[in-house]
Amino acid sequence: MAATPKIMIEARGLAKYYGPFVAVRDVTFAIPEGQIVAFLGPNGAGKSTTMRILTGYLAPSGGTARIAGFDVRTQRLEAAKRLGYLPENGPLYDDMTPVGLLKFFGEARCLPPDRLSQRIDLVVEQCALHDVLEKPIGKLSRGYRQRVGLAQALLHDPEVLIMDEPTAGLDPNQIREFRENIKVLGKTKTILISTHILQEVSAVGDRVLLIHNGKLVYDGKPDELRKGGSLEEPFYRLTGYGKGISPVKEDTD
Ligand code: ADP
Repeated sequence: MAATPKIMIEARGLAKYYGPFVAVRDVTFAIPEGQIVAFLGPNGAGKSTTMRILTGYLAPSGGTARIAGFDVRTQRLEAAKRLGYLPENGPLYDDMTPVGLLKFFGEARCLPPDRLSQRIDLVVEQCALHDVLEKPIGKLSRGYRQRVGLAQALLHDPEVLIMDEPTAGLDPNQIREFRENIKVLGKTKTILISTHILQEVSAVGDRVLLIHNGKLVYDGKPDELRKGGSLEEPFYRLTGYGKGISPVKEDTD
């Protein structure tokens, strides 16, 4: 009998309130080892909030989040060891160089000096950062900044990667390179990647989680959502946009 795959990212009954406003409500899912999952939803749906809870950066109002079986609040260090997080804008310090930033994060994660220098060489290679190692991050293009962010997330060789809108602001060539990188990383890591771009879903994901108004409205394979057509129609239907608004009619008088 095949062994049950280990659950690497788990959200159970997650909720987040900002005063009376409910940003995330009762979000539950479990991502087993090796899956690449697209976290899809319109702007303001609750993707970043959910990801910040999953990575331990934001306390939930209710529910629990686990990485590789470790509770991100009560077993924070164990969870953090296994997690690489690429937040939406950073975490990059404009005055630092990429190599300075990697050293800084490596030391903060308590990587021993020999291992840190080995890992820096490896992620610099993996993210093709050779040409910009000594340039201030503030002077780098969006594409290079994103690569530095990815290198930071990969530095401690985590089993789980959580990335918030990693292709936002990249040009088509940079998006293509980024997706190729994700496919390679997906061979050894469990990945959750958020996006509001429909084409992104099939390009990266085995599975899609669709969130709207803080609630999970679909969890399954992109092909089953699409049912032979495009993703636009089910996305529009499930995220309820335009309800009650009639298409503009041309004035025929
Ligand atoms: P997404 O990442 O899907 O665009 P977010 O998780 O950033 O969505 O936001 C979900 C909702 O929560 C949005 O309506 C947003 O305005 C609201 N929100 C996020 N952070 C805060 C905050 N600190 N205070 C109040 N409302 C917030």
